[in-house]
Formats: sequence, C-alpha cells, structure tokens
Amino acid sequence: MTVTWLDTPVHGLAAVLKTPAGKVYLIDTGGVRSQPDYNAGRDAVSPFLKAQGVTEIAGIVISHPHGDHYGGAEWLINNWKVNAFIDHNYEGRGQTLSYTRLRGLAVSRGGVHQPVHFGDVLDWDPALKVEVLSPPKEFLDPNSDPAKVSDHGLLNSNSVALRVQHGKNVFIFPGDSYGGTFEKHIKTNVPPEKLKANVLTANHHGFNPGFDFPKMVMPQYVVASCVADYPGNANTPYPCSPGDNAIKVYGAIGAEVFVTAFHGNITAVSDGEKVIMSKQHERAPAP
Ligand SMILES: [Zn+2]
Repeated sequence: MTVTWLDTPVHGLAAVLKTPAGKVYLIDTGGVRSQPDYNAGRDAVSPFLKAQGVTEIAGIVISHPHGDHYGGAEWLINNWKVNAFIDHNYEGRGQTLSYTRLRGLAVSRGGVHQPVHFGDVLDWDPALKVEVLSPPKEFLDPNSDPAKVSDHGLLNSNSVALRVQHGKNVFIFPGDSYGGTFEKHIKTNVPPEKLKANVLTANHHGFNPGFDFPKMVMPQYVVASCVADYPGNANTPYPCSPGDNAIKVYGAIGAEVFVTAFHGNITAVSDGEKVIMSKQHERAPAP
C-alpha cells in the first residue's frame, strides 16, 4: 500500500491511497483558488495519477464538506471515471448547497454514493481492513460540547475518520476532527489498542492536534498537510504555522513529522511489516 500526501500551493488536504491490488482511493481532494487560478484536482491530483499510470479512481472520500477538502473533487468527477463517492451524508447545520450538488454530480456521472459512519468496514482490498472511526450515524452534537462549536467547528468535528490496517501497519486519517465531542466519541467507542497507529495524518492540518488524541494514537510518523504560514485575523490565533505546530506537538511524543509545505509530496510505503517514509525535498533553511 502506498499513500502520498500531495503538496499544494493552496491550503487543503489531498492524499492518494493505492491499495496492494492497485486500486486508487483519494482521501480528500485539496482546495481551489481563483487568483491566480489553481485547482488541486486538476493541478495536483490529476497529474500525479497520470504520472503513475492510473486510469480510474476507485473512490473519493470527502472527510467533511469544507472547500479545502472537496475543492478539487468537481473537476476530478468531471474528468475522471470515479466509481464511488464516499462521505457521511450529512445534511444538517452548516451544510452548503454547493456540496450537496457535488454529491449529486458524482452520482449523475456514474459513481455510487456510499454514506459511511462509525463502525462501517469498507471493502477496498482483501489485503486491507478499512474501518470508519467517526462520525456516528446520529452525528456529534455540538450542544454537548462546552465550546458550543460554530458551524465550521461542527463540520470539522464530524469529519469521516478512517483507520486503514495493512498487515501490522495502521494508518489513521482523522480529517479535521479534534478535541471536544470527537475525542469523547473516540474514548467511549473505540478500543484504545485500535487507535495506536504507525502513520497519522495530523488532525486539522496540524492546527489542532486535540487534547488527548496524540497520546491515544502515539504515531511513529505524522504527516501535516498545510501551507507554510497563515496570516492573522481577529478571531484566530494566527499568524501561525500548523506545520511547525505539528512538529512541536508530535515531536514531543517521539514522532517523526513530515509537512507538505516544508517537504513537498510525502509518501508512505507499507509492505504489511514496516512503513518506509519519503519526502520530495528537505525543508529550506530559514532566510
Ligand atoms: Zn481542512
């Protein structure tokens, strides 16, 4: 199994998972930008797949309906054969019409819509066990969260979180879920031994690793998908670098941390026994 987290010049997450049998699944599709024009589906995912000789996409998983995760999907659905569109089928607070339309587009172009929730096991490859850790079918309730999360936070918390096991190796893809109701759900419903992972995609790009999640997972390797710096605004603790935050938090518990903004495309190769990580380039020295 090979997983590549693509480095994109706009904020987002796009990971390409190739199963041992050669099927390709996308875990999110990256973001888009109008000026200058950039579409992660067209400009990062598609060229990468073509260079690998891929001819069809077995499935696109959209962790949650935010543009930095589904932005590249429309272009891919219109230009590739996409056999399945996998999401949690959320229709509640914060959901946008453009995302609901995207789901419809995937079906009208011949894909199967596959809604997934906690406890589901996905049939991707006989050599893999792919399990959905979150969200539960009834979704996580923001009113039980002391922070009374915003619509934005509600969608993040309800990300599709996947656990992919290949032999002895475990990969966890938590989307943008972190903290609060998400950690409560995980602690209540997922046995601790199931959370230990070799490779973790940093929750929420590295901005918010969560309160207890890093120690629950104790990853050997962490990949943060982000751009280098985020400018400030009145409501957020910016300016900041989620990549540096991930290096600090996960480095402190012994993980080796890879950041797309610093290292380019990041690749993990699993043979079922060990994981070999590689990066496109070293981090440029500070100017
Ligand atoms: Zn995001």
